[in-house]
Amino acid sequence: MPTYADIILPLAVPGTFTYEVPEDMVARVHPGHRVVAAFGRGRKMYSGLVLRTHGELPEGRIAKPILEVLDETPVATGEQLSLWQAIGDHYMCTLGEVMLAAMPGPLMLSSSTRLVAAPETSPAWTGNPRRDMLLDALQHRHELSLQEAGELMGVKDPMPVIKKLMETGALMLAEELKDTWTARTERYVRLSESARGEEALHHWFDALERAPKQLHLLMRYIELSRCLSDDPREVKRDTLLKRSDASAAELKRLCGKGVFVIEERPAGVPSEEAARKPAPVLSEAQAKALQAVRTAFADKPTVLLHGVTASGKTELYMELIAEVVRRGDHVLYLLPEIALTTQIIARMRARFGERVAVFHSRLSQRERTELWMRMLREPGTHPVVVGARSALFLPFGSLGLVIVDEEHDPSYKQQDPAPRYNARDMALVLAGLHGAKVLLGSATPSMESLYNARTGKYGFAPLLVRYGDAALPTIVKVDVADLQRRKRMRGNFSDTLITGIEEALARKEQVIIFQNRRGYVPAWQCETCGWVPECDHCDVSLTYHKRDHGLRCHYCGRRYTPPTSCAACGSNRLRMVGLGTEKVEEELALLLPEARVARMDQDTTRGKHGFERLLARFGEGAIDILVGTQMVTKGLDFDQVTVVGILSADNLMRFPDLRAHERAFQLMAQVAGRSGRKRDPGTVYIQGRDIHHPLIELVAQHDVEGMYARELPLRQAHGYPPFSRMVRIVLKHKNEARVQASADVLAEALRGKLGDRVLGPEPPTVARVRDKHLRVLLLKLERGHYRAEKNFLRDVIDRIFAEAPHRSVQLHVDVDPL
Ligand code: ADP
Ligand code: ZN
Ligand code: ZN
Repeated sequence: MPTYADIILPLAVPGTFTYEVPEDMVARVHPGHRVVAAFGRGRKMYSGLVLRTHGELPEGRIAKPILEVLDETPVATGEQLSLWQAIGDHYMCTLGEVMLAAMPGPLMLSSSTRLVAAPETSPAWTGNPRRDMLLDALQHRHELSLQEAGELMGVKDPMPVIKKLMETGALMLAEELKDTWTARTERYVRLSESARGEEALHHWFDALERAPKQLHLLMRYIELSRCLSDDPREVKRDTLLKRSDASAAELKRLCGKGVFVIEERPAGVPSEEAARKPAPVLSEAQAKALQAVRTAFADKPTVLLHGVTASGKTELYMELIAEVVRRGDHVLYLLPEIALTTQIIARMRARFGERVAVFHSRLSQRERTELWMRMLREPGTHPVVVGARSALFLPFGSLGLVIVDEEHDPSYKQQDPAPRYNARDMALVLAGLHGAKVLLGSATPSMESLYNARTGKYGFAPLLVRYGDAALPTIVKVDVADLQRRKRMRGNFSDTLITGIEEALARKEQVIIFQNRRGYVPAWQCETCGWVPECDHCDVSLTYHKRDHGLRCHYCGRRYTPPTSCAACGSNRLRMVGLGTEKVEEELALLLPEARVARMDQDTTRGKHGFERLLARFGEGAIDILVGTQMVTKGLDFDQVTVVGILSADNLMRFPDLRAHERAFQLMAQVAGRSGRKRDPGTVYIQGRDIHHPLIELVAQHDVEGMYARELPLRQAHGYPPFSRMVRIVLKHKNEARVQASADVLAEALRGKLGDRVLGPEPPTVARVRDKHLRVLLLKLERGHYRAEKNFLRDVIDRIFAEAPHRSVQLHVDVDPL
C-alpha cells in the first residue's frame, strides 16, 4: 500500500497538499520533517513541511511524488504543528501563511530562494565536486537562485546540497545579508584582581606619581565606580574617557601595567560577577499575591494578575519562573515590545544568567535559526525565553508556564500580514497543548480579561499597592480651555505643568511628557478656506516634519515639499495646526532653555539600537525631560522620574473606535505609572479641554474597576466584545466603484444569516491607501454560534470571490481586530 504525506508549502495557498512518498523514503518521512516537492504550473520546487502521513488518497486525485527528504529529525514539533492549525483556523488564514510567520526564513527554501556566499570568508572547499562548483560560481556572480544553482550543478533537486552548505555556513540567503543584527556590545573598565582594595590602590598612587595623567584617570575611576564604597557601580570605557579628559592611550598603558582590565560584553548583560544576584525578599503584599496566583492555578489554567504600576509584578514573575525551572520545565515570558524592555531583560539575566534566551524581530535570520535549532536539539540550554509576540512560535520542549506581561497591550496583535493573531490569546492555546499554566499580568487589564476573570473563566490575583513605601502618583487635572481664557497657557503648556516641571528639575528629578502624535504638526491649513494638503495616493492629511522641512504621509511614507500657497483658493496664508512630538520638544527648549530634552518616537529610534541608547542616556541622568509618543508609556522603570505630563487627553478619548475609552484609560494610567516609582512621590498633570470627562476622573482615582463598570454595559448594549466576537473584513481595489459593489454584494449575502450584526460596508477613516480604495465590513459573531457563523462566512467569501468580477478585489479578514 503506498504512503502519502500531507505537506504544508511556504505559500499563501489554502490547505495542505498530498504527495506520494516513494518507497525508499518512507522510513524518513515523518511529521515535522522538511521534504522537497514540486508545485504549480511552473513545477517550482519548495521545501514543505510534513503535517501527517497516511495511506489513503482522496478519490479522483493523483499525487506527485516527494522528491527528497531534507531532515533526519523534525524541525518542528507536534505541538507547533497543532498550534499552527489552531491559528489558521481561528484567524481564517492558510497554514502556509502561519508557517511563513512561524519559521525562520533560512529553514524554508524554494526554487526562487536567492543565495549568496557567506561574506568575508574565502570559499571553504568541500572536496565534493558539485558543492565546490557552486561555491566557485558564487565567487564570480553575486547571487544565484536555487533554481539556477540546480541548473549549474546539473541536478534536478539542488536543495539537499544547498541545505548542507547553509549548515556549514558557506552559503546564506540573500535576504540574510541585509540584516546581520548582532547584540551591541559595550566596553567596561574594571580594576584587575591585584589592584583591588585600599592597600593595592595606595601602592598604585605612589607608583603613578610621575604619570599625573594616569593617576588622574585612576582617581576618576575610583570616584565614578565608587569601588571603595559598598555600592559599587560599573564604569563604561567611554564614560571614563569622557569624564577624565584622558586619552585612550593612557588607559591602555594602565591596562598594560596591570591596573585595569577592559571587559567587552553585550549591552544590558550584567557582568559575571553581578549575575546570579540572590532573589529579593518579596514584600508581604507580593507574597500574598503570589500565593493567590498559586492557589488559582490549582484549579484554573489561566490567571489574571492585576498589579498596579510598580507593584513589583516582575519580581513576582521571576519567583514563579524560578519555581518552574527548578522543576525542569520551560518558561515563555512574553513582552509587548522587546525594544522597550532592555531593562527587564537585564533583570532576568541578572537572576538567571545565560539560561535566558531573548527572541524578537530585530534578531537576524541567522540568530533566529540558531536559537530555533538549539531549542530542538539541546532543549535544556534555555529553559527561559523572553520574547515579543513571535516567540510564541519557537519549538518549546516541556513548557510549564507562559507569562504574558502587559496583557492589554495592542502590540500583541499582528496587523499585517496574515496571520493577524493576538499572541496573548494564542498563548492560551499554546499552553493548552503543553498542559502549561498562563499568567496574564497588567496594571490596566483589558476588558476581555477582566470579564473572563469576573465570570470565573480565569483565576484572579490582585496586587494593589506599590512596592516599598511608594504611593500611587497624584493626578492634577489641568483645564486648558479655562487657562486659555485667563492667558495662562504658554504655547501648548499650561503654567501649572511648567511649574511642576521646573520644580522637579530643581530637585534633580526627571520628567516624561506624553503626546500621541509624532512629527512637528499634524497639518498645514489654509487660513482662508481651511484646505489641508493630503497625500496624492492616500486619503489622509500630511504631517509636517520640521527637521527635513517636509510633509510626510504616515500611511505610505511618501515625502512632499510643503506648498507655499493654498491649492484650493490660492491664498498664501497657511498656518500650522495641531501638535506633534517634534513641536513639543521645540516648545520645551524655548520654555526651559536649561533643560536637556530628548524625544522618543518612531523617528528618533529607527536605528537598530536607537531605543537602547536613548534609554541608557535617560537612565544615566544625561536627559532631564523625555518627550514621546505611546512608546514612553510602556514598562519604563526609572526611579528619578517624578513628573509626567499628558498634553492632550482629548485626542486620546476621541477616536471613533469601540475601544477608544478603554485604550485612553490604559495609556493615561500606564504613562502615569512611570512616575514616583520608588521613594519620591510622583505627580501627573493631565491637560485637556474636556477635563471633567468621567474617564479622566477614573484615571485620577486609579480606578480600573470603575472603568470596567462604566464600559461593560455599553459593550453589552451594542453587542460588542466581550459579548461577541468581531470580524473585520477589508476590501481593496484601484477602482472605487468596483470595491463598493463587491462590498455591497458580500454584505448582502452575509445579512441573509447575520442580519443587523453586519455593519457597513463603509469607507474607513483613511479610505484610500497607496492608490487603493478601501471598504470595511464589521461582523459581530455570537459567542455561542461562533464556529458555525465563521464557517458560513468562509463559504460566502469563497463562493463570491472565486469569480469575476469580484475576483480582482483584494480581501483580508481580521478576526478579533483591535
Ligand atoms: P511592575 O512590574 O509591577 O511595574 P517592578 O517589578 O518593575 O514593578 O517593581 C518596581 C520596582 O520595585 C523595581 O525597581 C523593582 O526592582 C523594585 N522591587 C519590586 N519588588 C521588590 C522586592 N521584593 N525587593 C526589592 N525591590 C523590589
Ligand atoms: Zn485656501
Ligand atoms: Zn500616502
